[in-house]
Amino acid sequence: MNIILLGPPGAGKGTQAQRLQADLGMVQLSTGDMLRAAVASGSELGKQAKGLMDAGQLVPDALIVGLIKDRIAQPDCAKGFILDGFPRTEAQAVALDKMLAEGGLKLDRVVEMEVDEKALTERVVGRFTCAKCGTGYHDSFKRPKVDGVCDVCGSKDFTRRKDDNAETMKTRMTAYRAQTEPLLPYYRARGVLKTVDGMAAMDEVYRQIRAVLAGA
Ligand code: ADP
Ligand code: ADP
Ligand code: ZN
Repeated sequence: MNIILLGPPGAGKGTQAQRLQADLGMVQLSTGDMLRAAVASGSELGKQAKGLMDAGQLVPDALIVGLIKDRIAQPDCAKGFILDGFPRTEAQAVALDKMLAEGGLKLDRVVEMEVDEKALTERVVGRFTCAKCGTGYHDSFKRPKVDGVCDVCGSKDFTRRKDDNAETMKTRMTAYRAQTEPLLPYYRARGVLKTVDGMAAMDEVYRQIRAVLAGA
């Protein structure tokens, strides 16, 4: 099964994708994570993306489409994939359709995660991640069981994203509304769109997503 998790920054896409990956063996494809890895490696692509990401603006479609196209072609994606943070523009959605058709692949579900705008900034500003295994946490909503120690791998190293601040969130929300929200009618028209309540507690959101996927 191949799905898209669609929602604004901080909606909980990464959190839910990690759980689906762990439970169902699907592969999480986060374009944000891929770009941050490219920035960290100092590659040409990373250099092009860094300034835009720090400012909360989208990176060019051609660059992202190339990244995803290579990744979807890897053998592990045959188990099914979860697109997290892609597509984010109509041009990306059209490019995705083309690469799926070329690969004989199907898009089974697009899951919209609906969250109040006020909650998003609070989620993003309190977000941190294990530097070793990538598990996501939150200052108020998901603290590690032992303070300062990752539940999953025991690491004591955590990172916070430079773009996770209230100021950059404004630009990111503007980009979401202008460029990504139009994808909702795009997928609704094809009958693949389902909406879950992203304001619910993490376990409940997960339950709703599993219910939606069970019906696919
Ligand atoms: P996205 O990938 O959509 O940007 P994340 O999954 O990284 O969002 O979630 C953003 C922050 O909000 C993280 O710190 C995460 O722990 C927290 N979070 C995720 N889902 C919920 C939820 N249902 N309730 C409260 N906090 C949540
Ligand atoms: P969030 O879910 O919190 O918005 P992501 O980790 O998905 O954050 O993305 C971080 C940044 O990476 C975005 O603000 C943007 O600059 C860039 N980015 C990620 N995915 C895409 C994409 N599909 N198209 C364009 N830019 C992207
Ligand atoms: Zn860890």
